[in-house]
Amino acid sequence: VTTAPKTTAKPILQLVGVKKVFGDFAAVDGINLDIREGEFVTIVGPSGSGKTTLLRMLAGLEAPTSGNISLHGELMNNVPPNKRPTCLVFQSLALFPHKTVGDNIEFPLKVKKIDPAARKARALELLRMVRLPESYYGKNVMQCSGGERQRVALARAFAYDPEVLFFDEPLSALDYKLKKLLEKEFKDLHRQTGKTFVYITHSLEEAMVMSDRIGVMRAGKVVQIGTPEEIYGRPVDRFVAEFFGEVNSFAITRDGFGKWNAPELASPVTIAPGREPAEGKATVIIRPENMRFASHEGDAENILSGILFNEYALGSRVQYQVRAGKKTYLLELPRGAAVSPGPNGEVMIGWDAADAIVVEA
Ligand code: ATP
Repeated sequence: VTTAPKTTAKPILQLVGVKKVFGDFAAVDGINLDIREGEFVTIVGPSGSGKTTLLRMLAGLEAPTSGNISLHGELMNNVPPNKRPTCLVFQSLALFPHKTVGDNIEFPLKVKKIDPAARKARALELLRMVRLPESYYGKNVMQCSGGERQRVALARAFAYDPEVLFFDEPLSALDYKLKKLLEKEFKDLHRQTGKTFVYITHSLEEAMVMSDRIGVMRAGKVVQIGTPEEIYGRPVDRFVAEFFGEVNSFAITRDGFGKWNAPELASPVTIAPGREPAEGKATVIIRPENMRFASHEGDAENILSGILFNEYALGSRVQYQVRAGKKTYLLELPRGAAVSPGPNGEVMIGWDAADAIVVEA
């Protein structure tokens, strides 16, 4: 089940012109963003693009230099973290190391002066929710594995009963298998609790698997926000396209007859209806899985020939490298999709216009 964007839900968090300046450097440079109630929004972007700074402002650890952050329409700019109905889960988890799992989870409840019996009942409930055995209640957190500590930190976050949970790369230190498991559990927990999640990560896979919407940051700005399908299939520019996976790209220019030409191709490039660039030049981007081998001219709308010189097994798929002229093209096909290059490894490769992304040059 894919989680559809909750377009009808009310915005819970609203950012208007949010900026954070350190000295004369804008780490976050004017962000406008509405996050809806119950949404799972992931912010991705290269190192230094301002993700953590943005999250710290949302959580109240940092005040914006200018702009407004509101929650349910109420201005939050200078409200301290503990006075907000939000909770931040750090990458380091920030658990109390010498305390038990139970003590850690109950901490927020203790602060709220909930009586011990009710605290314990709630802690056990939260343990079940994050899929830890109740027997872990009395265990020292130092005796828990990385993945288990992750779950304890999550349970403690839910003990605050926040409306919005912020996550700062919570899975980045875990091994691949555990990460894949927890990605799914995060998503399930999100669905189960109906809370709003704002999550930052370097991992595109994490973002793709979990999010209702992904915001892509570059140099302090959100350059695109959309569903995973939109971001992957209709990136606004080459930066976003390349950030979300490997690409083949062609610079195209319009000639006097209105045809689009790329120097690498013998024939004009076919552009899908509605995707014609406004300017006289543009870039056509084709994902490796949208390129294919062709057996004759006309087999794909756009064709070139080259030499197949490498292939890599990627598990269920195979990636092929084809060299033509000075460029190397990537194709990714399901394992077992037969390829028989001609003499000297000669192959024809191509793509259909409908599978290409056209962005500004
Ligand atoms: P990463 O993915 O590496 O964690 P990020 O996208 O989270 O990066 P930030 O940590 O938000 O990026 O940092 C954005 C920019 O702001 C960086 O260039 C960083 O050096 C700068 N910066 C962050 N905090 C401060 C600070 N307290 N004082 C000065 N500069 C800062």
